[in-house]
Amino acid sequence: MRVVLIGPPGAGKGTQAAVIKEKLGIAHVSTGDILRDNVIKKTEIGLEAESFMESGRLVPDGLMIGMIKARLAESDAASGGFILDGFPRTLHQAEALDRLLEEMSLSLDAVLLLAVPDDEVVKRLCNRRVCPSCGAIYNVIACPAKAEGICDACGGRIIQRDDDREPVIRNRLAVYRERTSPVLDYYEKRGLLHTVDALEATDAAMRMLESIEGTKA
Ligand code: ADP
Ligand code: ZN
Repeated sequence: MRVVLIGPPGAGKGTQAAVIKEKLGIAHVSTGDILRDNVIKKTEIGLEAESFMESGRLVPDGLMIGMIKARLAESDAASGGFILDGFPRTLHQAEALDRLLEEMSLSLDAVLLLAVPDDEVVKRLCNRRVCPSCGAIYNVIACPAKAEGICDACGGRIIQRDDDREPVIRNRLAVYRERTSPVLDYYEKRGLLHTVDALEATDAAMRMLESIEGTKA
């Protein structure tokens, strides 16, 4: 299966994608995770992306498209399927993805939109904490770590992402509305878009995929 997961920041793309990855055994490609990894390692990509990410702006399309092209060419994604989390985020990226898949003689099975109201986004992100070592996600209110500041899964130190502070969150939401909404229309017109209620459950996206598969079979 080749799936795109779209939604505002804080919709729970990472959490929903992890469930799908587990269940279907496909590659989870998170552009946010790849970028943050590059920032930590101070690679050329990381150095270029850092200031955009800190202020909640989008990293330039050229850089993102090159990054996705390299990642989708790796054997797990190319032959086993993938779930794209955080890409495409602009119309230009969506068109580039189509060309890329066409070159590989592949196509998308579904695009899932995780719908969640703005005030819920702000609430979730202000309270979100992450473990940079293993990617585990916590919430200081809804889902805290057992020992404060220590990851349950790997014992690593839990942090708040720099961009999970309210002014930056508001900016990320505005960018989402302006740049990513056209991507939704693009996929809607192609009959690929399915809306999932992100407040429902962490496996809501997985269940939507199952129902899509069911109608196909
Ligand atoms: P969220 O969806 O919660 O905002 P992500 O982890 O997906 O967070 O992305 C974090 C940041 O990385 C974004 O705010 C943006 O700066 C950058 N980024 C990630 N994916 C893309 C993309 N496809 N195009 C441009 N910038 C991106
Ligand atoms: Zn961890």
